[in-house]
Amino acid sequence: MSASDSRPSIAIIGGGPSGLCLGVLLHKHGVPFTLYELRDKPDDSTLLTPSGMLDLHQESGLAAIRACGLWEDFQKHILDCSEELIVMNKHARVTHRDSGGSGPQSRPEIARNTLTHLLLESIPAESIRWECKLLSASRTSTNRISLDFGAKGILEHDFVVGADGAWSKIRNLITTVQPYYGGNQYLTLDILNATTRYPALSTLVGTGSCFILGSKKGVVSHRGVQDSIRLYVGVSTEDETPFCAPSADLEAGSLKRALVDSSDLFGTWSEQVKDLISTAVDETLVTANATQLSEPKPLYMLPIGHTWEAQPGVAIIGDAAHLMMPWAGEGVNLALWDSLDLANTIIQSWDKAEDAAEFQQIVTPLVSEFDKKMFERSKRAAEETWKNSKMLFSDDGAQAMADMMAAFQQMAS
Ligand SMILES: Cc1cc2nc3c(=O)[nH]c(=O)nc-3n(C[C@H](O)[C@H](O)[C@H](O)COP(=O)(O)OP(=O)(O)OC[C@H]3O[C@@H](n4cnc5c(N)ncnc54)[C@H](O)[C@@H]3O)c2cc1C
Repeated sequence: MSASDSRPSIAIIGGGPSGLCLGVLLHKHGVPFTLYELRDKPDDSTLLTPSGMLDLHQESGLAAIRACGLWEDFQKHILDCSEELIVMNKHARVTHRDSGGSGPQSRPEIARNTLTHLLLESIPAESIRWECKLLSASRTSTNRISLDFGAKGILEHDFVVGADGAWSKIRNLITTVQPYYGGNQYLTLDILNATTRYPALSTLVGTGSCFILGSKKGVVSHRGVQDSIRLYVGVSTEDETPFCAPSADLEAGSLKRALVDSSDLFGTWSEQVKDLISTAVDETLVTANATQLSEPKPLYMLPIGHTWEAQPGVAIIGDAAHLMMPWAGEGVNLALWDSLDLANTIIQSWDKAEDAAEFQQIVTPLVSEFDKKMFERSKRAAEETWKNSKMLFSDDGAQAMADMMAAFQQMAS
């Protein structure tokens, strides 16, 4: 066996933020890997499609972007959505407004697709295998990890990172825990070129993020590429039964009626908010994003504070490790932080180990150390997320959120 054959072979499952960021960092340090992703390779046109904004935080998401050497490129892509935050109640009365933090408090917003492109550009094309859906993973008698990609084959690796999101197949090698419904579901809608075509709606939601909250429901918007307004229409429900019929079964008129005429949903909300929702339904149906409307999506979470014992040859990061609802804006930040820390763990072990067996011996206790830090920070974020979900989806979420923002501002001053 040649020296290069005996080096550990590393796989990353999942090309979301955590998998791609880990890939960039490993590549930067000359550690080879193969990343398997179930989707097709995205083309440049996805950059023009609204994909939701992610605000990155200094100690986590932004630290990872800097470590990837992408800070300057990142700066060019944060102009679509300002850091402005508007909170209003169901009658469109503003309860809080601020223009975002500056310096170390700044949390710039980047489109999900743009972040994907930025990271992808720093990974050699031959390191990624697209359209490879992992069906299951198991451990071989020689302690390697066997990955079953169905018709794409069964492949073995010495070390596998599960960056495969909520329904991770790699997590099954570590723990039996599974995600469960978190109590909220949402519809995604988009309005393109909003400033010129819908100036009143554009003014209503502002240049950044807007939370319109009340009666255990919420309409949350972010500005984005193509001068868009992305709208998440969210409700809290006891179970996952869709809160409105799948739109495949509806035309725009009946979906609008279901949303804005029913007093159980948004029928008693201000005319401005109802106009925002109705316009977004119409607009979404005529854009390429119409599939977004397909049906309300339930939000899932993993148990807060769940832990596991590190197992040889595997690690999990991002949503695969600590899926939570998006109400504290921490998911992608934790995912990138995990990538940064795990990359250091892998690189350290790679540099010391002569061969695959030695790599496994060195890396397993280091992964255990990595896990402990990840457990601590993800538990904190999951608790905050859960608290926020109760607060945002309370009877007067707008006042509760305004009070929370006032308390933050007081602490910062
Ligand atoms: C509506 C919504 C809004 C959100 N807003 C925010 C926000 O504002 N801020 C924030 O911080 N977070 C937000 N989040 C959470 C954030 O999106 C996630 O935490 C983040 O994407 C996690 O990144 P990841 O790489 O771990 O997982 P993912 O982004 O889920 O990526 C997993 C990847 O693995 C691939 N994959 C899955 N299964 C397989 C398989 N079997 N084989 C091969 N590939 C596979 C998937 O195709 C995907 O590319 C939001 C989430 C939702 C649902």
